[in-house]
Amino acid sequence: MRKKIIAGNWKMNIKPSETAALVKGIAEATKDFTNVDIVCCTPAIDIPAAVAACAGTAVQPGAENAHWEASGAYTGEISTGMLVDAGVKYVIIGHSERRQYFAETDETVNKRATAVIKAGLTAIVCVGETLAERDAGKVEEVIVRQMKEGLKGLSAADAANLVIAYEPVWAIGTGRTATPEQAQEVHALIRKTLGELVGVDAAEAVRIQYGGSMKPGNAAELLAQKDIDGGLIGGAALKADSFAGIIAAAAAAK
Ligand code: PEP
Repeated sequence: MRKKIIAGNWKMNIKPSETAALVKGIAEATKDFTNVDIVCCTPAIDIPAAVAACAGTAVQPGAENAHWEASGAYTGEISTGMLVDAGVKYVIIGHSERRQYFAETDETVNKRATAVIKAGLTAIVCVGETLAERDAGKVEEVIVRQMKEGLKGLSAADAANLVIAYEPVWAIGTGRTATPEQAQEVHALIRKTLGELVGVDAAEAVRIQYGGSMKPGNAAELLAQKDIDGGLIGGAALKADSFAGIIAAAAAAK
């Protein structure tokens, strides 16, 4: 049985002064749902406030990116050592917005994810096809390439610190959600590909989240699918009640 994991991706939306109230609101609204891992991935500048607010609650702090080098002349970047020192537990890697706007490639995803995992943090590695790729019948090709290139060199032991997020780009922030069947089909492909990379047993234990306009109203049917082990949530993670609604659905899922 894989424990469900619901992670919020705040993106560039919540200020440091707003962070404690949101984390505390989420912690309060979800305190009965002990069978779900709850994560808030925040902008770097919010991390100290998020770590402080998470203390003593079941909410775990996360970051939205990390660099692969340990230190050095990389203006604007943040190392995994800095994140560990700050108290972060999870790091989102390869979000489609980073791929689209910040020249993230499968190669840089691989370097970042490897550094995150080697630092003892859990990497939430995002994969997903664009609408043009889906329409061209290239879903399998794109997902398998992103997985094989992005996770190159990782071992079965490394997979213990890995979460995959399937985020069809056409569903992110658009209000358009993949159907449970569409999502399950890709999640099964992700698990099969993971099995080829790290072995079937390790792949069975990896949580695979769905992300793309997940809300309290559609979470239950998505989370009921065999290979959907949680959600990576953008818009609905910015309010305690909507995020808690998704966590309640995860807590009730079989
Ligand atoms: C995301 O950014 O990871 C995401 C899934 O966003 P939204 O929930 O707003 O579609």
